[in-house]
Amino acid sequence: MAEHKQMSEEEVRKRTRALLEEVHPERTESIPFRLAQFRHGLAWVHFPEGYGGLGISPKFNATVQDEIAKHSSVIHGDNPAGLIGIGMGAPVVLTHGSEDLKQKLLPRIFSGEDIWCQMFSEPSAGSDVAGLATRAVRDGDEWVVNGQKVWTTVAHISQWGMLLARTNPDVPKHDGLSYFVLDMKSPGVDVRPLYQITGEAEFNEVFFNDVRIPHGNLLGKEGQGWRVAITTLMNERVAIGGGGSGKKAGGGIGQLLKLWKERPAAAHSAAQEALMRDRVSQLYIESELLRLTVQRARGGQKAGNPGPEGSVSKLAGAEINKRMWETGIDLMGSRGLSFEAGYELRQGGGAGLGSTEGFAKYSFLRSRANSIEGGTSEIMKNILGERVLGLPGEPRVDKEVPWKDVPRS
Ligand SMILES: Cc1cc2nc3c(=O)[nH]c(=O)nc-3n(C[C@H](O)[C@H](O)[C@H](O)COP(=O)(O)OP(=O)(O)OC[C@H]3O[C@@H](n4cnc5c(N)ncnc54)[C@H](O)[C@@H]3O)c2cc1C
Repeated sequence: MAEHKQMSEEEVRKRTRALLEEVHPERTESIPFRLAQFRHGLAWVHFPEGYGGLGISPKFNATVQDEIAKHSSVIHGDNPAGLIGIGMGAPVVLTHGSEDLKQKLLPRIFSGEDIWCQMFSEPSAGSDVAGLATRAVRDGDEWVVNGQKVWTTVAHISQWGMLLARTNPDVPKHDGLSYFVLDMKSPGVDVRPLYQITGEAEFNEVFFNDVRIPHGNLLGKEGQGWRVAITTLMNERVAIGGGGSGKKAGGGIGQLLKLWKERPAAAHSAAQEALMRDRVSQLYIESELLRLTVQRARGGQKAGNPGPEGSVSKLAGAEINKRMWETGIDLMGSRGLSFEAGYELRQGGGAGLGSTEGFAKYSFLRSRANSIEGGTSEIMKNILGERVLGLPGEPRVDKEVPWKDVPRS
């Protein structure tokens, strides 16, 4: 893997001040400010020059943020709905996209103008995503897509989707896939919301009825979609993997500590208090360990895409978060059983859960998804066992069999 270019921290700060002289967040709207940040190479500094970066270590992304915060009371941060585009869309386009796609798509991902979604999972292909059935058939300069995806986060507000589809059913499953960037406004794309336990509909079912995609929107080569998908998945685990807000006692653990401090006096017996203190302290230690591990891994990251090690923080983050909010509910005692913040069906809007307790109840419900989304905890353990620790692989009976001959329900 290539090394990053060397640059001093002071030089990064100087370049950030030059950006602020040209466009200041207090006087500029978010989109034009972020487009200028992209042009200055200060969007994602570890990307190459010309694509929003400077080709330097990703640890300097924090330096850019810090320097902006020093000089501005207004911060134009990432679009909250833009996580998939920024965390996964951008690196996959950078690694596998044509020059045209890079120039067209990358600035708008960073500016927050375009929201992206990831269309991998299907009703019968989640953990075994390489077994998927959505078909894309070549027709001249276009591909025609038919099939169905499911659990597609933010598809209802997306401009672009990363689509993995089967282009050759006659070869083993991993060899017959191709990867497309799909304009979600294309005719024949039908997005239908799915409601979650929290009352939100952050994800959807997506149906494709003779959807046409230009051949130029293929990422990588025909039949090499699995390789491209791996780039997405490795980045996904890092993007959604734990580490909290990056600040000491920030993020979820900060909220849990607030809940602990605000609990009513004598809510628990002395014995329960001691037990609760023990659980909260243990979670604080584990959150801090995770935060520092993630920070160290990012600091040491070489140029290019992350490797299977990203599964460490994905697995640990999911499991800590679930225990964190179980503790939150236990801290509230019987009050934790009501969801007074309102269990109404929503799509897209924020949780609107102002109080510490409301946030904790929402987080308890939402955290159940952490060990499923982006690959389940069992799958993370398989990856770590096989790809990091070098343990023997699981038996894979369909590996050499043409996809069309694999029995499926
Ligand atoms: C909130 C949320 C958002 C999501 N967003 C997206 C999205 O934007 N795009 C997208 O494409 N997908 C998305 N997903 C789907 C997600 O990636 C899948 O749900 C996940 O990969 C699991 O697949 P599955 O649901 O089909 O479960 P299955 O694969 O059917 O798994 C069922 C159970 O079997 C276990 N299991 C399966 N195989 C093995 C094995 N080999 N070894 C051990 N245990 C195994 C699993 O761990 C799980 O416990 C989202 C899911 C959630 C919950």
